[in-house]
Amino acid sequence: MRPLIVIGNWKMNGSLASNQDWVKTVARGMESGMPAGRKFVVCPPFPYLSQCAGMIKEHSLAFLSLGAQDVSAQSSGAYTGEVAASMLKEMGCSYVIVGHSECRLLHHEVDEVVAAKALEVLDNGMTPVICVGETADERNSGRAQEIVCGQVAKQVSVLQDRLADCLIAYEPVWAIGTGKVASAQVVQDMHRAIRLQLAEFDEDVASHVGILYGGSVKPDNAVELFAMPDIDGGLVGGASLNPQDFLAICQA
Ligand code: PEP
Repeated sequence: MRPLIVIGNWKMNGSLASNQDWVKTVARGMESGMPAGRKFVVCPPFPYLSQCAGMIKEHSLAFLSLGAQDVSAQSSGAYTGEVAASMLKEMGCSYVIVGHSECRLLHHEVDEVVAAKALEVLDNGMTPVICVGETADERNSGRAQEIVCGQVAKQVSVLQDRLADCLIAYEPVWAIGTGKVASAQVVQDMHRAIRLQLAEFDEDVASHVGILYGGSVKPDNAVELFAMPDIDGGLVGGASLNPQDFLAICQA
């Protein structure tokens, strides 16, 4: 049975003061217990990892893990501005997002780099959250499954059976931060296609890999999305900034 996972991606938002309020509110909300068989993760910007790790410990938030939004494909060395997976591990991270569409677009990150980053994350004992997704043009031209399954196939070719220790996040680019959520059936169909693509490599791996949906997930659409058999949770951007909305999505 795959657990349901909700990951909050704060992107480039937050401050020392607002982070403190966020964790306090989430701690209060989670105090009374959370539904069993679920995992929750928060991914603040790099400079706040240490602060958030400290607050998660201070509030004994057993339900909440720490994640990072990106990582270097290199282990160490002359890579100014980059952050190594070993450093994220030291900061208390358990999850790392790789290949987010904003990184693919703004940093020209290609599938090979995404796979190299995922390997770094795995080698340092954390879980990579590998993002895939099609653009609006690709969907409108009827190529959404071909594009997404192609991205997944490239990860399979590098990661092979180590994919069993990864999460995949299907994030249609046209749904990220736009308020345009893909319908639960469209997402379910894509998740099924991704699982079938994984099964071509190994059926056991395919049945174990969690596939999350990301793209304008909100408290009012999360219930329907998470009820789908191949949707194993969500990667939540904008709505995760509001602790009450994040809690509501975690309860969904
Ligand atoms: C994201 O950043 O991964 C994301 C899904 O953003 P939003 O929920 O704001 O669409």
